[in-house]
Amino acid sequence: MQGKVALVLGVANKWSIAYAIAQAFIREGAQVILTYQGERQKQTVEELAAELKASLTLPCDVTQDAQLDALANELKGRGTVLNAVVHSIAFANREDLSRPFVETSRAGFALAQDVSAYSLVAVARATASLMAAPGEGGGSIMTLTYLGSTRVVEHYNVMGVAKASLEASVRYLAADLGGSNIRVNAISAGAVKTTSARGIRDFTKMLEGGAKLAPLRRNTDPAEVADTAVFLASDLGRGVTGNVIYVDAGVQIMGFALPALTP
Ligand code: NAP
Repeated sequence: MQGKVALVLGVANKWSIAYAIAQAFIREGAQVILTYQGERQKQTVEELAAELKASLTLPCDVTQDAQLDALANELKGRGTVLNAVVHSIAFANREDLSRPFVETSRAGFALAQDVSAYSLVAVARATASLMAAPGEGGGSIMTLTYLGSTRVVEHYNVMGVAKASLEASVRYLAADLGGSNIRVNAISAGAVKTTSARGIRDFTKMLEGGAKLAPLRRNTDPAEVADTAVFLASDLGRGVTGNVIYVDAGVQIMGFALPALTP
């Protein structure tokens, strides 16, 4: 990724999947720009950026079109040409991740869709014109998704529906932006202990069960997710668009396994 520039949205702390991705991009020689959601996170993300040797940090709450426009204008003003954009963002109300899905409120459903799915469309629209020209490699946009989009995963609820919408958005965006040589993909990561994941009821049990169920007999390492992000952002991934790539130690192929069902 030498000479490439990547915008990474969704670093909250060292456990964030986006942090592992930024680390891998920098390891591979890319220049990385991080964003933070609001003043609350500014100092933390600036400290993480300094540690990572990221080149710039900028504010961006993805629910605010004005902030997305300001981000794009700031990058344009600096003459930045992007080669990759990582969207590693999701949110749902905690109560919608614990009570039965049938009790999801209209507002909770809309909020999860807005932050976790629509924001990819908004980010793609804001950044597409900043991407390298089609003949110069174009660009690669990627997002993070989870198996709960296509299978029922207990307690994942409204977020599973948002991830289904996110994955469909990946396909429509890939079709729209392919003419500009911009690729759009999703990485479906296995369960990783992060701040967001801890909002899911019984997440520790999910981790334990997942490790037993996985063909590789273990959980997913965020570094493995990050290496797939490197593949998608680099020229190695130049023929891949509109895909959902599973990096989950193989969990998604399993029906059920007796060791996972026995305590
Ligand atoms: P994380 O560290 O908590 O990252 C989530 C990020 O989303 C945080 O940086 C958060 O910022 C940001 N965010 C939320 N609302 C935002 C908004 N309105 N504007 C801008 N940023 C906003 O958790 P993570 O697990 O790494 O999650 C990253 C992605 O991976 C998510 O899409 C998640 O669904 C996906 N994923 C996670 C797992 C897993 O098991 N952990 C598995 C598969 C997929 P603040 O901290 O400032 O709120």
